Amino acid sequence: MARIVVKFGGTSMANIERIRHSALHVKREVEAGNEVAVVVSAMSGKTNELVGWVNEASKLHDAREYDAVVASGEQVTAGLMAIVLAEMGIQSRSFSGWQVPIKTDDAHGAARITEIDPTELDKRMKDGWVPVITGFQGISPHGRVTTLGRGGSDTSAVAVVAAAVGADRCDIYTDVDGVYTTDPRIVPKAQRMTKISFEEMLEMASLGAKVLMLRSVEMAMAYKVRLLVRSSFDDPNAPQIAPDGTPGVPGTLVCDEDEIMEKQIVSGVTLAKAEAKITLRDVKDKPGVAAAIFGQLADQGIIVDMIVQNIADDGATTDITFTVPDSEYDKAVKALENNGGKFEYARLSGSKGGAKVSVVGVGMRSHAGVASSMFKALADKGINIQLITTSEIKTSVLIDEEYAELAVRALHTYYGLDKKDA
Ligand code: ASP
Ligand code: MG
Repeated sequence: MARIVVKFGGTSMANIERIRHSALHVKREVEAGNEVAVVVSAMSGKTNELVGWVNEASKLHDAREYDAVVASGEQVTAGLMAIVLAEMGIQSRSFSGWQVPIKTDDAHGAARITEIDPTELDKRMKDGWVPVITGFQGISPHGRVTTLGRGGSDTSAVAVVAAAVGADRCDIYTDVDGVYTTDPRIVPKAQRMTKISFEEMLEMASLGAKVLMLRSVEMAMAYKVRLLVRSSFDDPNAPQIAPDGTPGVPGTLVCDEDEIMEKQIVSGVTLAKAEAKITLRDVKDKPGVAAAIFGQLADQGIIVDMIVQNIADDGATTDITFTVPDSEYDKAVKALENNGGKFEYARLSGSKGGAKVSVVGVGMRSHAGVASSMFKALADKGINIQLITTSEIKTSVLIDEEYAELAVRALHTYYGLDKKDA
């Protein structure tokens, strides 16, 4: 017997039929003798619709009312899931964030969970009930409804496990059957990983693999909550295999690196398109200049990604290049040009339409030559590299968007990630 928290994403809750199908996964776990708590997202598309209504009502709305409206999607699905489970003969009731309570700070729209009181959930689960908890929402110190930021239900689920009920597993049900070595739409030979380490998943999520919300992975890593990413579209009555990495497990286990026997040098290849690059030439080489430049961008809420600064040859001036999303390019250029004398440069140049391609793998830590082999693989395809950045377990390059798919395919093959039988 185990204690499990299961989370269903929007497509798994899209309509009554889908909710019923998802509930059968819960039923199977209950009948296997497990204690189960459920965390749900709103029906797919619902949150976007609610956000749209808020903006239509007023561009300058109160963030507290935004949360009151936008959190409602999860209240609907939590209630419906409890009803469907009860109809299947399972004792169940819904919990809104404030009823648990899931306490957060008061950063409306992007609140952080500060504390979850496990008493009621714990008692219910011990008594054989299945509590169904609204994902994405909580309650502020002032008693107002808060939301955790888009995609926040993953974080709710991890937090319920970590902080509250001490579950053995957190199963994240979604519309794909796991985490892939790269986007299967680009590389049909992409493979589902049986296991991936927290750190690799963190890189993959921040590089644009949208299976899990970034913050939920951070939290899972901090509290060592093992996550099983799997599909709710699976047959709920098919035989189940323990989620310990045994071949045939219906999903991808996100776990500690120590649990992964065979460490790949490169485990995955990711792609983020629509990256613009900006270069400032002849920037004064003195303390505080980079702080001023990036402070100016941060003040505008512009997120900067790759940053490259060269050393000053003459000790006087240097060049700084960095990337921002294409959508922020014009805003960034304007902010740099009108900086109120905070910093000086000779020229600004830049362009939209770049693509960041990255290879990720914990094995990189102990292997030389990953970067050079990556550059070689790209050179063989005649692809020019514009920018390079690295971290301990990742190497990223910026290239022309036109070659993005070609680069991903080439690297996937080069590092031996292609599925054998495809
Ligand atoms: N419904 C929320 C959203 O779409 C939270 C979630 O689905 O995780 O962002
Ligand atoms: Mg979602």
